[in-house]
Amino acid sequence: SDSVNGVVKPRILLMGLRRSGKSSIQKVVFHKMSPSETLFLESTNKICREDVSSSSFVSFQIWDFPGQIDFFDPTFDYEMIFRGTGALIFVIDSQDDYVEALSRLHLTVTRAYKVNPDISFEVFIHKVDGLSDDHKIEKQRDIHKRTNTDLTDAGLEQIHLSFYLTSIYDHSIFEAFSKVVQKLIPQLPTLENLLNIFISNSGIEKAFLFDVGSKIYIATDSSPVDMQTYELCCDMIDVVIDISCIYGMPNTEAGLPHDKDSMAIIHLNNTTVIYLKEVTKFLAMVCFLRKESFARKGLIDYNFHCFKKAIQEVFDVRVKVQQSRKLLNQR
Ligand code: GDP
Repeated sequence: SDSVNGVVKPRILLMGLRRSGKSSIQKVVFHKMSPSETLFLESTNKICREDVSSSSFVSFQIWDFPGQIDFFDPTFDYEMIFRGTGALIFVIDSQDDYVEALSRLHLTVTRAYKVNPDISFEVFIHKVDGLSDDHKIEKQRDIHKRTNTDLTDAGLEQIHLSFYLTSIYDHSIFEAFSKVVQKLIPQLPTLENLLNIFISNSGIEKAFLFDVGSKIYIATDSSPVDMQTYELCCDMIDVVIDISCIYGMPNTEAGLPHDKDSMAIIHLNNTTVIYLKEVTKFLAMVCFLRKESFARKGLIDYNFHCFKKAIQEVFDVRVKVQQSRKLLNQR
């Protein structure tokens, strides 16, 4: 199914030259494969791989270039696909020569924009783990400059591309994916607002709303994100999922080892507590707080209960709007 609580899942298209790292990104982010295992991923001849994973908040498709993708092929309905796409991620292998990749990027972006000007275009400058910091900045600047020159030459300077430096060997790929997904969530300002209210009333330092299946955070409060905090949250989710898989009761409905009442608490030895609670089937809140604040767990749980109700309302309102639109269309 393509919806969560009746809300259509954000749809993402992952494109790029063959061997740029698309399958690896999919396996690492959505299927918990360890980065070094991707070395043994077999190169596939399928040009289009649909991800049918039902355990995540997002859905996406992978396309290879070059392949049989021919924008002039009348049997290939790229228009329909671009119309239903929220974000187009183009992966560029930064350890390889990228001249061909850039020309493919340009062709794809200009085609897609003509069909659907609302797509957000995201460029992953990928495999940067082998590069020094200076080198990374240099590559990003060069790629940025070249793509913008191409767009300006084509009279399409209004198209906006966002760039990310990514690698599957650290958390940069999760961070980049989080930003991409957040742009596709219309309720984001409301979610952020609710998180702000929740943390300030509960003595919490930082709270993330996570898509548990992918470790993408779909929202956080407005205090700045510190990479280390984010990494700790990801590690906590891994621990919780691993323990649930081993000792948990299989939830037959969704095949997930956790359910809407799951929760976990980890006390770190520096007086920090990490507190995880499920919000919906896919989403969990992970909070960072000091030991003193955790003493008032009752208050936190009460506030969390209110937060959860508010979240359900946010999504319910949307469902109702969608339903009444459908009714109107039927008349
Ligand atoms: P695809 O054809 O675009 O799906 O590319 P693959 O996912 O098959 O990846 C091609 C190769 O790139 C594999 O050997 C991966 O291990 C490697 N790779 C993918 N991501 C990274 C990365 O972030 N860093 C490095 N160093 N190698 C990567």
